[in-house]
Amino acid sequence: MKKIRVTIWNEFVHELAEEKIRKVYPDGIHGAIAAQLSAQPDFEIRTATMDMPEHGLTDEVLDNTDVLIWWSHKKNGEVSDEIAQKVKNRVLDGMGFIPLHSAHLCKPFTLLMGTVCRSKWRENDEKERLWVIEPSHPIAEGLPEYIELPQEETYGERFEIPAPDELVFMSWFSGGEVFRSGCCWKRGLGKVFYFRPGHEEYPTYYREDITRILTNAVRWAAPLAFTHPTLGYYPALEAIADKFEGQDDAARMHQNLY
Ligand code: ZN
Repeated sequence: MKKIRVTIWNEFVHELAEEKIRKVYPDGIHGAIAAQLSAQPDFEIRTATMDMPEHGLTDEVLDNTDVLIWWSHKKNGEVSDEIAQKVKNRVLDGMGFIPLHSAHLCKPFTLLMGTVCRSKWRENDEKERLWVIEPSHPIAEGLPEYIELPQEETYGERFEIPAPDELVFMSWFSGGEVFRSGCCWKRGLGKVFYFRPGHEEYPTYYREDITRILTNAVRWAAPLAFTHPTLGYYPALEAIADKFEGQDDAARMHQNLY
C-alpha cells in the first residue's frame, strides 16, 4: 500500500507557555492531531515544530511530504521567509497544504493566496455551527448537515482571500458573524485546504467529526500519481520542418536567453 506521507507542523508556543492551554493539549496541537490521524493505516505521520533547525522543514522533510498540515498563531511573522518560500514552491510542485485556524495569516498561505488574509475575530466562547454546504465534496464525506462546536473563537467575514475554487464549509457564530470555514484552491500542481476551527483553548482537534474532516482533507490534498510536465524547449512530436536543421544547439537555444 502506498502511504500518504503527512507532516503536521505546529509553532508549539501556546502549549509550552500557558498552563491552561497545556491542559487541553499536553502533547501539543500537533501531537493531538497526529494521534487522531494515526488511526489511518495508509497515513505515515511525522510532526515538526518551529524551534527545530529550519523549523523542522528541511529539504529532506519537505521532499518526503505529500501533505503538510500547519497550525500557527503567535509566531506567524517569525517563520523564516526562506522556509515559507520553500513550502510555497513545494505546493506549486504538487504537495498538499492544510493551514488550520489562525494559520490563515501564516506566510506560506498568504504567499499562495496573494492576499493579506485578515478577518474579524473575537474570543468570547461562542458556539460555532459549521454548515456543510458542498455535501458531495470528498472533504465532506460521511458528515451530517452541520456540526456544532459548543465553544470556539469567532471569526467573521470579510475574510480577505481570493474566491475559493470550492467552498465546502460555512460557519455561523452565536454572535452573528459568518465565515468561509472550509476553502479549497488549486495552486500550480498542488491543492490547498484552509480549515477554520481549532482555537488553542478548546479541545476541537480531539473530536471525531473534526478528525474525519482532516482525514478526508489529507486524502483530497495528497498528490495523485501524475507525470510532471516538460517546461521549456520541447522538440516537435510531428515530422515537421526544423528551421534550425544543421545548426548547433546554441542557435536553437538562443531564445532561452531572453
Ligand atoms: Zn485562535
